[in-house]
Amino acid sequence: MIDLRVLSVASEVFPLVKTGGLADVTGALPGALAPLGVEIRTLIPGYPAVMKALGRGEAFQDWPDLFGGPAKLIAGKAGGLSVLALDAPHLFDRPGNPYLDAGGKDWPDNALRFGALSHVAAEIGRGLIGGFVPDVIHAHDWQAGLVPAYLRFGSSPKKSAKPPATIITVHNLAYQGQFPANLLAALHLPTAAFTMEGVEYYGQIGFLKAGLSLADHITTVSPTYAAEIQGSEMGMGLDGLLRHRSHELTGILNGIDPEVWNPAKDANLAARYDSGKLEARKANKAAIRKKFALSAEGNGLLVTVISRLTSQKGIDLVLAVLPRLVAEGGQLALLGNGDPGLQAELTAAAARYPGQVGVILGYDEGLSHLLQGGADAILVPSRFEPCGLTQLYGLRYGTVPIVARTGGLADTVIDANDVALAARVATGFQFVPVTADALGVTLARALRCYRDPPAWRAMQKRGMAADVSWRRPAVQYAELYRSLAAARGKAKSA
Ligand code: ADP
Repeated sequence: MIDLRVLSVASEVFPLVKTGGLADVTGALPGALAPLGVEIRTLIPGYPAVMKALGRGEAFQDWPDLFGGPAKLIAGKAGGLSVLALDAPHLFDRPGNPYLDAGGKDWPDNALRFGALSHVAAEIGRGLIGGFVPDVIHAHDWQAGLVPAYLRFGSSPKKSAKPPATIITVHNLAYQGQFPANLLAALHLPTAAFTMEGVEYYGQIGFLKAGLSLADHITTVSPTYAAEIQGSEMGMGLDGLLRHRSHELTGILNGIDPEVWNPAKDANLAARYDSGKLEARKANKAAIRKKFALSAEGNGLLVTVISRLTSQKGIDLVLAVLPRLVAEGGQLALLGNGDPGLQAELTAAAARYPGQVGVILGYDEGLSHLLQGGADAILVPSRFEPCGLTQLYGLRYGTVPIVARTGGLADTVIDANDVALAARVATGFQFVPVTADALGVTLARALRCYRDPPAWRAMQKRGMAADVSWRRPAVQYAELYRSLAAARGKAKSA
């Protein structure tokens, strides 16, 4: 029975719109929390894909002029989710990436686009929708960072309702949403909001900073990242504020959807399998080799990388260890897109090592499943990684993770050191510091293990047995929601 209502506010949600892990998390949480008595509705921008998926929906509210144009709030079901879409064509009826124009530049009006989203979230928090008054608003990343600011400072015809408790989740502190101070009026925020305790950040308006200052609670997506961002090295300028709020900052690991990611039922695979039928992975390995134009000879270690191509993800380290991998008879199949310089270097590497290095530039959800279903190992050499999902898919699919020991990678993979091997708990390989040399040493460890098939198989099976679902994290979120709602005096009896 539902006893708590949560409005989740995000700029992307799987399966409707996704550029990264944020969408996976916002897409999975509602289903994971429902059995725990928590109803989550998700407020997202009405991008073309969202409006198409929603169809007609039910229009709740319209604004003749919301931040420069007419807008409607449409409710409906899409992708198994209960969605509230902000249908504001002047802000969101644009094709392609949710944040970038066709030239790859941030849309110049991103402050207004996501300001409007946050403003509407606050209105819903104040009781805009009769049948759904949230106890908690869960804001995700900078795009929803102004929600607590609008609740605190925004003007609204509906002032009477008691405001909900607020949480902001940091999925990646590197993206902070900073905009010129002169947008304050266009964002319908009073000058009283422009203080160090409010939205001001080094003379600008800081969306994420506002959320971190004003939300009742802050979460991030792994315990190690929660600790790391309180230090100057990974705090990205916000470490002081995060230290100040450390008693209201929690790290909760992401889970994955074990149905979407299920090697026994995955239609994207050439052959489906479970931990008792690992030899079926060979057919998937062959399919990958064909797709990436890799040599079908031999049975060397096939490593995959599935990633945005940015400096965060340590792609330069992948390039640096290629000679060693290839010399050992290994192969690389990389799927990714992003930084043009990295794309060019990867294309050049594929040309340098024909049959041993295959690169596909682009975003392809189905192919990412096949890679998980047939590669031997997945490499995640991130310089920082709030949680990381690809190593979790790797565990579930028997693709042994080789990861940098940082953030959520440190929390989810058990390194195959001697003690862990003796205790039979190792599920992958970690390296630190995050350098090409350290990765090279760890790659050598992985290769040694791979040449001992029973040891490798045992590692795959342990990974596949690990619980990487939302079961545990969902309980943690439910407890947090309830404690915050109770603190606001809004908890309803179950
Ligand atoms: P981030 O959110 O920083 O990009 P995560 O590991 O948390 O990193 O999530 C990345 C998600 O995006 C995973 O679901 C991964 O499989 C997917 N992904 C990344 N790049 C691609 C790509 N080129 N094609 C398909 N899926 C991708």
